[in-house]
Amino acid sequence: MAIQDRYHRQRLVEGFGDAGQRALSETTIAIVGMGALGCLSASMLARAGVGELILIDRDIVELTNVQRQLLYTEADALESMPKALAAKIHLESINSEIKMTAHVVDLTYQNAERLLEPADIIVDGLDHFDTRYLLNDVAVKHKKPYLFAGVIASQGNVMSIVPDKPTPCLRCIFPEPPPNGSQDTCDSAGVLAPAIGIAASCQTMDALKCATGNIEQISNTLLTFDLWSVNSTRLDVGNPNESCPCCGRQEFEFLHQSHDVEPTTMCGQHTVQIPQQEGFDINSAFTRLSEHGSFSQHMSIVRGELREELDGNGEPIKLTCFEDGRVLVHGTDDIGRAKSICTRYIGI
Ligand SMILES: [Zn+2]
Repeated sequence: MAIQDRYHRQRLVEGFGDAGQRALSETTIAIVGMGALGCLSASMLARAGVGELILIDRDIVELTNVQRQLLYTEADALESMPKALAAKIHLESINSEIKMTAHVVDLTYQNAERLLEPADIIVDGLDHFDTRYLLNDVAVKHKKPYLFAGVIASQGNVMSIVPDKPTPCLRCIFPEPPPNGSQDTCDSAGVLAPAIGIAASCQTMDALKCATGNIEQISNTLLTFDLWSVNSTRLDVGNPNESCPCCGRQEFEFLHQSHDVEPTTMCGQHTVQIPQQEGFDINSAFTRLSEHGSFSQHMSIVRGELREELDGNGEPIKLTCFEDGRVLVHGTDDIGRAKSICTRYIGI
């Protein structure tokens, strides 16, 4: 079959057609979080012929990801590839016709509007709530569709936020993020891959509807399902709430924080993330760290273990340093200790 026929089966679908294919090829979609949801959405969108994908993820591939994160291989885990870069390489082999950009960063209030500015649609591939409120603010402020989904164990929630429709936004339904540590995550409660498939499919279908001008086909509902007990409900979420601080009063408080981004523990992973640093030099960090342990530099990432810092099991503390100065300190949940390790061995 000639390559120009690769989209034939979706052009046949009523409501999609040639016009839909053309519109999709002119659409830019950002996927924030290249975990299980992001891998599947990105794969479907790349195969469908989206114009451009912007892939954003702060993490590296680990062997425990390969069970459900369908773009990654054992080799990616062995090489500790950044997820956004590994995904881009695999997606390019799936569809070489589309444009792709990978950002290995932590999305924060400081970079969210800049990184998401080119996107027509934002797809949520996150595994934690705080950044979702940031995405919701960007989406409502700049009138971009935001396709929310979350999956834990065998359960999922999916809701599409489409400011032009309009639908309620995330804060109309869940006014505040849950307190840190109060929610299960995939790291604490686990996750089964088929549940991801349902949520990512719902998101991607709504991305196709948005891209092809079919937003009337998007429902104002919150889908909740559990594939283990085989239950699902669609809660009618009605219209936007006029008193909602975000879409009602247009107060984008998650975008206008005045404090610096603080170090955070990465739930269930026994890891502390030190935020990005201005003026950080990855090469000098590599030189300094190499004097204190076994470190390697690969694809602008420095990774290794410290000789003289041990975790609770007597294993060496491991560090992963990114080009933007972000550091993951593996082997501790103690933010103070992680900060002092970074000060002592990297000088940040
Ligand atoms: Zn709202």
